[in-house]
Formats: sequence, C-alpha cells, structure tokens
Amino acid sequence: MTTAGTTARLVGAAGIAGATAAAAGGVAVGLAARAAGRKLVEVRVERRFNITHWPPPYAVSRRAEELHRSLLVADLHADSLLYGRDLLRRSDVGHADVPRLIEGGIALQALAACVRVPRGLNVERNEDRTDDVRLLALALGWPPRTWRSGVARALHLAARARRMAERSRGALTIVATGAELAAYLERRRREPVITAGLLTIEGAAALDGEVRNVDRLADAGFRVFGLTHMVDNRFAGSASGVEKGGLTPAGRDLVARLEARSVLVDVAHASPRTIDDVLAMAGRPVVATHTGVRATCDSVRNLSDQHVSGIGRMGGIVGIGFWPTATGGRDAAAIARAAAHAAAIAGIAHVGLGSDFDGAVPLPFDATGIVQVTDALLAEGFTDGDVAKVMGANVFRLLRDALPTGPGAGHGIERRPTVC
Ligand SMILES: [Zn+2]
Repeated sequence: MTTAGTTARLVGAAGIAGATAAAAGGVAVGLAARAAGRKLVEVRVERRFNITHWPPPYAVSRRAEELHRSLLVADLHADSLLYGRDLLRRSDVGHADVPRLIEGGIALQALAACVRVPRGLNVERNEDRTDDVRLLALALGWPPRTWRSGVARALHLAARARRMAERSRGALTIVATGAELAAYLERRRREPVITAGLLTIEGAAALDGEVRNVDRLADAGFRVFGLTHMVDNRFAGSASGVEKGGLTPAGRDLVARLEARSVLVDVAHASPRTIDDVLAMAGRPVVATHTGVRATCDSVRNLSDQHVSGIGRMGGIVGIGFWPTATGGRDAAAIARAAAHAAAIAGIAHVGLGSDFDGAVPLPFDATGIVQVTDALLAEGFTDGDVAKVMGANVFRLLRDALPTGPGAGHGIERRPTVC
C-alpha cells in the first residue's frame, strides 16, 4: 500500500457491529455481518482507491505477446490479501486475483501483509496516531487478537493466503523455501496455468515492537521484510514519516536478525538515511520491492541514483512500481523509462517489477495487462533477454540464492554478494 486515501471511516458502525456480532458467536449473524463488511470494504475502499486507468482487454504488439508467453514473470508487491476478497475468484474489483494473475502470465506474486496504515495518508509526512487497518480488521471480522496486534494481523493474512492455496487445486502455491520454489517451477513447466505467492511484510509494525517476533513471521513463511511503511517506527525512519531518521540500535538488531533468518530486507518506503544505514551494514542482498527512481519522478519516496546503485552492488533488486508517483506517468511507457534508468545505474541484473497491485493507488492496467510492460520495454530498446530479466528472471535468480534451502530450514545462503 503506497499512498492514497483513507481506508477510513469505511467501516463505521456497520463494521464494528458486525465484528461484535461475529465475536459474540452467532454463526449466521456473524457470516451475514462478514459479507456486509466485505461489501463495505469493496465499495468504500477498493472501488475508490484500487483503480485501473484503462479497463481490459489490453492490446499489445504480436512480438510482445509471443515474448511474454515465454517469460517467467515475477512481481514484488501487491496488497491483495488485505480486503477480504476470495482471491481464487475472478473479480472486477481491484487489480489482482489468482485468475487474473494467471491470465497475465505472472508466475510469482509477492503478497504483502500491510498491517498498519495512518488515516489521511500522504507521501511527505505522516504521524503514527491512527490505524485504519484496525477498521479493516473489524469490518472483515478478523479474529479479536488482530484488533491490536501487528504480529497477529500478519499471521492472519499468511493463514488466509495458505488456506486459499489449499483450496486452489494447485492454481496457487505459496513458496517459502528453495525446494518449494524448484518444485513449483518444475510443475509450471508442465502446467503453465498456475501461479505462486511469496509472503512479504510491509512495515515493522508487524513486530509489535519486538525483534524476536521476526522468528514467528519467518516461521510462518514471510521471506521479505519492509522495515517501514508510511510512518517512522522504533526501528527505522520512513520516507513519509515525520523525523525520517535512520536505523535505530533496535533497527540494527532487526536487520541482523532478518539476515540470520534468510529474510530479505526491503527498503521500499524507507527514508534516505535508513537506506544509507541498511546498505552500510547489510551482508546479504537488499531489495526495494516497489519504488520509483528520482531520475524519472523526483519524490522523497523514490530512490536516488546512489541508492539504486547501492542496491545493485549488494546483489539486490529495485522493483519498479506502476503507479503515477513512482513512474511520473500513467502508462506502461513510464514504467519502462524508470526501469531503463534503474538498469543503467544498477545493472540489468538488478531491476524487477513492484506493481503495487491493490495498494490503494491508480494503475494503468490490472494484472491481466502486465504484458504491456513487456511491450513497453521492447519499445524502450531492451533486448528480449533483458526484458526477461526485468520481467522476472532477476527475481527468480535472487530467490533461488536467498530462500532457505528446504522445508524446516531456518537459514539460507549467507554471503557477501558478488558485484554483477
Ligand atoms: Zn507500499
């Protein structure tokens, strides 16, 4: 989730009454309240903020269409878990669900747990006084333990993703280890009409203030961890916070613990000072899952050339976002321009995609239209091989190296990455 309007007042009395009824135990009443809560979230949040500039279908060149079919596409950020939609069903609400990911040819979609959002979001400055995800939790009938706990919210969203994967008859697989990733890719060679999810955290509010909770999240399968979201926290400064400071001593402990657990550190939304501090201490690749670059859109939320270059040197990936204040435009050409700049600075091996599907931002297309990025990269002058890298090959390479190796493995490869 990136900018945009209040999740806000969305629930009000109806949602809170629904959650209370569900908690009180009336099953029929609870189910009806939950359905009403989902409808409310659809109308008041998704239809207002998860907007698509142009509706499907999306026309592209024949060359792009053919190339796209051969690609392993990966996307490093989506907030689709958040709104209570059954992602196994195709919807015309928001940007992404499993059928639309599959139609778009997306082989791997990061599914973020965004657990705390202040009211009246803006890019420049947000205080940590309000908590609109709590309103979502109430409206959608999440368990009472999630009403106040970021850890509980993240674990709840991970459980939702896993339950959907179990019900999907193989259409959705959650990958959390190198062995699971290899098995998924092997199966996808035979059955291309499937997709995979990678669980990620957006903001250290998911720790309830305690570094040791990294272990609970890693054990649940989270493999990428965004240090900050829209506000400063006790670990790090946010690009959209008040102080916009760097890593605190607790933040340094957090980065060390994440690396020890083979969880990739994500500096999307982090303040420039935080990114400096992370790059100075990191021993493993660092990612920016969804971001723009200042060279094509100058905003405090977007990466300077120095940071793009630093992420490349660490063996990480800059995931180019699709929304206007990431790219400076409203179409796939703007995404391709930002990707071209990132590739020129960091190296082609260190650029990927970070759409921010369902992140309360307007996007040019929904998940079925991601082929337009392939088309725009070709138009920008990328070779077929370089298109393949940006569209997903780089992300798969990083995950093969960085994920813990097998079931139950707590630790992946720890190394100082080579410079590519
Ligand atoms: Zn975000």
